[in-house]
Amino acid sequence: MSGWLTIIGIGPGPARWMTPAALEAIAAATDIFGYTSYVERLALKPGQTVHESGNRVELDRAGAALDAARSGRHAVLVSGGDPGVFAMAAAVFEAIERGPKEWRSIDVVVEPGVTAMLAAAARLGAPLGHDFCAISLSDNLKPWSAIEKRLRLACEADFAIALYNPASLARPEGIHRAFEVLRQAKPGNTVIVFARAIGRDDERMLVTDLAAADPATVDMQTLVIVGSSATRVISRDAGQPWVYTPRSMEA
Ligand code: SAH
Repeated sequence: MSGWLTIIGIGPGPARWMTPAALEAIAAATDIFGYTSYVERLALKPGQTVHESGNRVELDRAGAALDAARSGRHAVLVSGGDPGVFAMAAAVFEAIERGPKEWRSIDVVVEPGVTAMLAAAARLGAPLGHDFCAISLSDNLKPWSAIEKRLRLACEADFAIALYNPASLARPEGIHRAFEVLRQAKPGNTVIVFARAIGRDDERMLVTDLAAADPATVDMQTLVIVGSSATRVISRDAGQPWVYTPRSMEA
């Protein structure tokens, strides 16, 4: 049996936001690797071997999946959202670059997934309808100074900004520091969205502005969207407001 490794993303929550290609890879797998809470969301068949692991051992998990593929197994490595956005695909290629030469002949495929910012944007309307960027506020893998610099310059460039990994128990202060940067750089009427657990039963969406936003309400399941100067809110008598960024920009 000739082995392979397919790296998939299962979307932000509901099964219908998983791609048919990801489902096909899971159905064909002998071995499934991934963080426990993602693997739990899959409908697996008897006989498939599950290798669950905690969140912090990405390179080990990537290496284990590569070893399995190399030994002839059909391995699937599971991320939430899209596997290339602050997730496992980059860890696999980092492991390959550092690892034994034989790993370079493994059949590795990355299947795209629906990333959290696109799911949140779709719920809201079209807040990312013009130029935007994504920044992770996690300083596990990069210094805080880099985060702050990118945030400051993204504000200066007037991108709409999607903030991933905004807070965790280990670093509750990050989101407050990020909001200090935003408040120095942007006017109080800048649109802010806290999009929590999008697509899941406990989904919660708050559309507010920079002056009123309370970053203390943000947790690890939240994606924060910061509007550009052109981002607009359309309020409605009933239901959540729409948020969009026009496609045209004044000269
Ligand atoms: N690979 C994932 C991102 C992993 S980083 C993706 O493409 O979506 C984890 C961060 O993603 C979380 O801290 C949160 O900011 C965001 N996130 C993931 N799923 C989410 C969801 N259902 N709703 C809101 N934010 C989500």
